Amino acid sequence: MAGLSMKTLDRKNTTIDRSTVAALAAGLRGTLLTPDSPGYDEARTIWNAMIDRRPAMIVECAGAADVARAVGFAREHRLLVAVRSGGHNIAGNAVCDGGLVISLATMKSIRVNSSARRAWVEPGNTLGDVDNETQAYGLAVPTGINSTTGIAGLTLGGGFGWLSRKHGLTIDSLVSADVVTPSGDLVHASAKEHADLFWGIRGGGGNFGIVTAFEFALHPVGPEILSGLIVHPFKEARAVLQYYREFCATAPDELTVWAVMRKAPPLPFLPEAVHGTAVLILAALYAGDMAAGEKALAPLRSFGTPIADVISPHQFTGFQAAFDPLLTPGARNYWKSHDFLALSDELLDTMLGYVETLPDPQCEVFIAQMGGATNRVPADATAYRHRDAEFIVNVHGRWSDASQDARCIAWCRELFDAAAPHATGGVYVNFMTEEESQRVESAYGASYARLAKLKKTYDPSNMFQLNQNIRPAAG
Ligand SMILES: Cc1cc2nc3c(=O)[nH]c(=O)nc-3n(C[C@H](O)[C@H](O)[C@H](O)COP(=O)(O)OP(=O)(O)OC[C@H]3O[C@@H](n4cnc5c(N)ncnc54)[C@H](O)[C@@H]3O)c2cc1C
Repeated sequence: MAGLSMKTLDRKNTTIDRSTVAALAAGLRGTLLTPDSPGYDEARTIWNAMIDRRPAMIVECAGAADVARAVGFAREHRLLVAVRSGGHNIAGNAVCDGGLVISLATMKSIRVNSSARRAWVEPGNTLGDVDNETQAYGLAVPTGINSTTGIAGLTLGGGFGWLSRKHGLTIDSLVSADVVTPSGDLVHASAKEHADLFWGIRGGGGNFGIVTAFEFALHPVGPEILSGLIVHPFKEARAVLQYYREFCATAPDELTVWAVMRKAPPLPFLPEAVHGTAVLILAALYAGDMAAGEKALAPLRSFGTPIADVISPHQFTGFQAAFDPLLTPGARNYWKSHDFLALSDELLDTMLGYVETLPDPQCEVFIAQMGGATNRVPADATAYRHRDAEFIVNVHGRWSDASQDARCIAWCRELFDAAAPHATGGVYVNFMTEEESQRVESAYGASYARLAKLKKTYDPSNMFQLNQNIRPAAG
């Protein structure tokens, strides 16, 4: 019987005989998929359609014991390993060619203790799953703005969204995590146990092990919350963005406003004549008392002559999914990202110039307002380093037709390069593409050396190398 052709850690091909593979499958509570298994194509498909890889095996884990077995198997055979949870990451490291994918996508339990304000979350859950369970009690973890994103990858990179200025990054609400290390041990990492590992997984991605459960502190939120969009014509974008930056400078922590420049989608509250034309969208959420939110947002809402203003009380879970229709899986995506301390006129002009030449109606430029609680945690308290960023700007290249790859990618790179002189040099690891390995050190700044030492302690052979990779320290 022919064996399975696998890739090893040094990316050479090796063959594992079918009986060895069958023995692994027999020991799992979950499922082992090979290229001829039903469900294989679904299991290897991730959010970004640019990524089309064919792993030799996919272990769909049912629990931490399966994860440890898969890790042990990979160690024994020196296999190239990819780790998948939500499968949302732009870089596509959740799936590999020829190696072993350890998939947590099937581990979806969530347990909430509402009186203790705690949630225990398995890694296969999306942000929407987490909101669904926690909002039943009027509680929430600060996460991201697209409900289909995986909680695992988002948390391990840092995690921020509508609640972060009030309640901090996702990692700032992480109380503990269960981690299967490259040696196959299951350890509990918290401020008291394996504190070094706990520091590293709060921003250091999947470099040190596979997280099989997250324990989060929860915060009272909603369930109704003042939120919505203000849409301005593109000709007023410069003036509105200049006002936006002044407004952000004194905004309370409860208030978060992001700015999106793109072609207007056919939203029902926009006049038809506006559909498909360039617009500036301000998306806002006030995480607190409704009347205080109305007061805080009033100056922004009265500035200029918006085409539409649909800010009103909404279900928090609804607003968490508001951008989902623009971020569906299956499109081709290429992103670039920078951190900024301020939005200078020069930067605004650069961005607006490129918005005039958007290469596809699905492309957009996104300004995320940071600051508030995210910036009050000391920079060395977690592996997520660049807490000084007041804004993160993403160039979201997104299109459907592969023949447009070169044109759309070139547009993203040119805008990224033109904006670089105004940026801090820092970057959020979760927004980096696969080709940006040279930026990993910048992403961790002064924490990189400590992370490299931690990598040497937990993963000296770099088994977990398909990520924004931290190299084990030398010596
Ligand atoms: C449309 C869209 C919107 C987004 N919006 C936001 C946002 O608002 N805020 C924000 O902070 N981020 C945002 N992100 C980025 C997001 O945080 C990352 O894409 C994140 O990696 C997604 O996690 P995942 O579990 O879905 O990813 P996956 O692709 O499954 O995993 C990404 C990587 O994380 C590691 N990993 C995954 N699971 C584990 C695990 N259990 N243990 C160890 N390592 C693991 C692996 O290295 C893997 O390659 C967004 C991304 C997209 C595509």
